[in-house]
Amino acid sequence: MKIKKKPAGNRPVHERTGDYSEVEQVLNSEDRMLQASRCMDCGVPFCHWGCPVDNLIPEWNDLLYNGDWKGASDRLHFTNNFPEFTGRICPAPCEHSCVLNINEEPVTIRENEVAIVEKAFSEGYIKPSPTEIRTGKKVAVIGSGPAGMAAADQLNKAGHTVTLFEKDEKAGGLLRFGIPDFKLNKRTIDRRLDVMLAEGLEIKTGIEIGKDISSKEIMDQYDAVCIAIGAMQPRDLTIKGRELDGIHFAMEYLSQQNRVNDGAYVAYDNRITAEGRKVLVIGGGDTGSDCVGTAIRQGAKSVTQIEILPKPPDKRADDNPWPYFGKILKTSTSHEEGCERRWSMSTLRFIGMQQRVTHAEVEEVTWEKVNGSFKMIPVPETRIQLEADLILLAMGFVHPIHEGLLKELNISLNIRKNVGIDNKMSTNIKKVFATGDAVSGATLVVTAIASGRRVAKRIDNYFISGG
Ligand SMILES: Cc1cc2nc3c(=O)[nH]c(=O)nc-3n(C[C@H](O)[C@H](O)[C@H](O)COP(=O)(O)OP(=O)(O)OC[C@H]3O[C@@H](n4cnc5c(N)ncnc54)[C@H](O)[C@@H]3O)c2cc1C
Ligand code: SF4
Repeated sequence: MKIKKKPAGNRPVHERTGDYSEVEQVLNSEDRMLQASRCMDCGVPFCHWGCPVDNLIPEWNDLLYNGDWKGASDRLHFTNNFPEFTGRICPAPCEHSCVLNINEEPVTIRENEVAIVEKAFSEGYIKPSPTEIRTGKKVAVIGSGPAGMAAADQLNKAGHTVTLFEKDEKAGGLLRFGIPDFKLNKRTIDRRLDVMLAEGLEIKTGIEIGKDISSKEIMDQYDAVCIAIGAMQPRDLTIKGRELDGIHFAMEYLSQQNRVNDGAYVAYDNRITAEGRKVLVIGGGDTGSDCVGTAIRQGAKSVTQIEILPKPPDKRADDNPWPYFGKILKTSTSHEEGCERRWSMSTLRFIGMQQRVTHAEVEEVTWEKVNGSFKMIPVPETRIQLEADLILLAMGFVHPIHEGLLKELNISLNIRKNVGIDNKMSTNIKKVFATGDAVSGATLVVTAIASGRRVAKRIDNYFISGG
């Protein structure tokens, strides 16, 4: 009760916008342990209820408070393969559900998590511990995002012989090529992959299954196959002017900058940069916010972000009580860096000159509930043209890519066009399982990790039951 919340805080805006290093700072160990002391070890820990990977939060908070960093790290790894990722970029539903949130500020659960795992790496507590017994069963995990990585890690630890396939040149999925370095530095991915490799996992990058290697070959060579290909089909805006130069999907833009940060060469003509440009980001979510931060670092003249939905409230609405995730206005570190945000705006057409976009025509909308679902109503006489010569489409993802692997294997889809699975996480094809965003649609890193752990258990059970 005596210790108040003390977040580590962020690097100053003027400093951090000059580079791509992580924005968030770290607290000293003493303050961090005091922050853990704020945890009340609740009889019913709602933080645990809110956490998709079922983290044992009060337990490791207590170990941290008592200075047992190794014990805290071990307890953290019981339920989460990669706390260094979630500790950096999770929206922390646990904190929304923390009991302290009722009348105080919640425990800094996410920051405590990353502090524990970073200390564990720096003190050498996290070491490869290869399993001694191998089952002889071979598993191919296709896609190396957090779901595929978690599934591969769990299956490898269970003694199966696992190959993780990735079509990109490096493993990590959206952790590597979607999420900007200023939120998650890529050294953390390499560090974890090194541990997994030393524990016997095989990783093959630059190989697209369904193109470079046929799915038949994979089916012939492996005892089980796990599809973890993410939900990479972006939502498009097929309006007049969409074909103009200067309009890109967020992932084309973000992945290129992440590759450039990693030393990749991109030819001048192919470079998408916001330098000196008026940038319009369409889509008010996390991906849009990542575009904002990247555009500011590239030297944009101005950055505007528009969203079709209304502005969320500053405080929880009556129908959104604790301990549910608070649907409130989120201001990211990128927004703090200088961006105009507008809500309830629909984009009608893109306007250009000499083949390059110069404006987007938008209008205000309201949302009315009709027969139980919301209907968008344009507000008369609100049409305006926003000046923009770089437009980034960040309106989410609709489903996994169907071409290639899924079509080749004849995988059934569910009603949302994601990979259909039964309660054993099995697809319609024998010995083929699926996990992560490919199954659920675009979600979060923490839910992808949880899903990867679940599918590993299902595949293990499949082998135990004679598969
Ligand atoms: C820009 C952006 C920012 C985000 N920020 C956050 C955040 O801050 N916090 C958060 O919790 N979540 C965030 N997310 C969401 C999060 O990244 C995803 O939910 C998560 O990565 C999904 O994990 P996954 O393993 O299912 O798929 P992915 O991470 O999408 O990985 C799938 C992998 O499969 C590979 N692949 C696909 N097809 C094949 C094939 N045929 N053969 C071989 N490999 C293949 C792909 O190349 C990819 O590497 C963000 C997403 C984006 C796009
Ligand atoms: S709900 Fe909050 S105070 Fe209670 S155990 Fe979880 S972190 Fe600690």
